[in-house]
Amino acid sequence: MELDMQNPSEAICPICDSDDVEISSQEEREAFGLPGVTLRSLQQVTCRECGEVTCSIPSHGLIVREIRRRLCELGRPLVGTEVQFLRESLRQSQAQLASLLGTSNVTVSRWENQHNPVPLSADSFLRVLTLADLDGSVDFNKILRFQDGGASVVEIDVLAVEESRFSSGANLIAEEEDWDDIVITLPESPELQAA
Ligand SMILES: [Zn+2]
Repeated sequence: MELDMQNPSEAICPICDSDDVEISSQEEREAFGLPGVTLRSLQQVTCRECGEVTCSIPSHGLIVREIRRRLCELGRPLVGTEVQFLRESLRQSQAQLASLLGTSNVTVSRWENQHNPVPLSADSFLRVLTLADLDGSVDFNKILRFQDGGASVVEIDVLAVEESRFSSGANLIAEEEDWDDIVITLPESPELQAA
């Protein structure tokens, strides 16, 4: 994971505000307590005035997002600390994740403490949820709605769906003799372009 160095000319000591500082590039292994994650090109600032040494992570939120995405792409099973990191990033408690997976919070705890291996189903589920959450195209709360007792059946008003299809402009040609035109113009509909 590469980080852009801040412009060294802008670096100042956070303690004494001196700009007489020395910049060096550092590497942090096991970042965020994750044994498989190394952050490179971290900017370490050493103050020549007061001797203060600071090393901060710029764009902290972006780095966390990047770690989450890259964990989902690992070509090996997730380990306990990674499961915990992804779960907490999804704002789920051990009990909530256990409920979603039909298991107990003790079981989730044993995965995260590396007492038991993480089952493939839980590994895959965490990756899918994480990618959906990062992508933002899926309303994560809708996936979890059954936790709070949502609807138990699906009811669809066919006429309403048809009307929304026409009002969205996806199918402006309703005349039967223009059927061929509809087929030709379908690839340009917003729904298909978004797919
Ligand atoms: Zn200083």
